[in-house]
Amino acid sequence: MSMPTPKPSLLGLDAYVGGRSKIKGVQNAIKLSSNESALGPSPAAQNAYSEAIERMALYPDGHSTLLRDAIAEVHDLDPSRIVCGNGSDDILSFLANAYLQPGDEAIYCEHGFSLYKLLIQAVGAVPVVASEVNFTANVDQILSRVTDKTRIVYLANPNNPTGTYLNGQEVARLQAKLPSHVILVLDGAYAEFVTVDDYDDGINLVTRCENVVVTRTFSKIYGLAFLRVGWGYCPPAIADVLNRLRPPFNVNGVAQVTAAAAIRDHAFTEAAVAHNETWLHWLNDEITKLGLDVTPSIGNFLLIHFGSEKGRTAQDADAFLVSKGLILRRLESYGIPNGLRLTVGREDDNRKVVATLREFVGA
Ligand SMILES: *Cc1c(COP(=O)(O)O)cnc(C)c1O
Repeated sequence: MSMPTPKPSLLGLDAYVGGRSKIKGVQNAIKLSSNESALGPSPAAQNAYSEAIERMALYPDGHSTLLRDAIAEVHDLDPSRIVCGNGSDDILSFLANAYLQPGDEAIYCEHGFSLYKLLIQAVGAVPVVASEVNFTANVDQILSRVTDKTRIVYLANPNNPTGTYLNGQEVARLQAKLPSHVILVLDGAYAEFVTVDDYDDGINLVTRCENVVVTRTFSKIYGLAFLRVGWGYCPPAIADVLNRLRPPFNVNGVAQVTAAAAIRDHAFTEAAVAHNETWLHWLNDEITKLGLDVTPSIGNFLLIHFGSEKGRTAQDADAFLVSKGLILRRLESYGIPNGLRLTVGREDDNRKVVATLREFVGA
């Protein structure tokens, strides 16, 4: 008897593994493993969510018009170039589906977001890894991996899980040197948190170039990960392709109205940036004082490095933190077995993490 057979590219594929969310036997574990917002969603977003219950029976707007208009207004963009998705994962996936054929190549960085590899493999394309320098993407390394089969470069800027970034000049240099048929995907999942002056979210490049796409999400600073909503800013030709490819109602109605309210709540977003700025620096300093190496981050999370001696490893630290009800992200799957990623939390959570790490190192 013959069996239904999937495409060969799917046979060896591993499923995406997210951050853990539970500890067996612990009721109120503190989850700092998925870079979710410390402050949660804005009250305006919560109101919009509640009001949406009235409209539950209706199909949503298949073009996410209200949401695209809100995004366009806040960021001063052309709404016709915005494509919304069920999370920004959706947009990253549409790009792979639309532009990669079996045998094509797509590049991502050594410690880049792990979803890229899965998306590339799922469509039968070849994932190509560019080395990093000091846990940071490197333009020359990326360029050195380009061949005539390259179709996409996926770059998270700032990157998860390292928190490092390429400045605006370097991103522009990368775009300028890439062949024009290669799409540069700038994943700005953490762009709203960034306060350093030399960062550029790449939106200007999208306006000027036919081969740059920027993706953004409502899962991080806006605290709406539960709803799944993200967007891409695209050159017109790419927006057109993604709009034909995407399912007709790929963003649900509750997500559309809630995200639109969230992005318009400037005061709340500013408060979330300020909270992150304060506690990111505090965590960086306090954890460094414990004698642990921390990679400088501009996101809402930190990469903490541990030793290789028995009792001092990231696995040991993780076990100790878990025993105290704290969940961080293990990074074996990112090729950083000696690291743990810590999401910036609320004040109490941050203080508890530092106190627990202090106990762990015996300082
Ligand atoms: C969290 C994250 C995303 C967001 O994905 P959504 O599907 O929008 O929730 C995208 N890229 C990176 C690098 C991330 O860390």
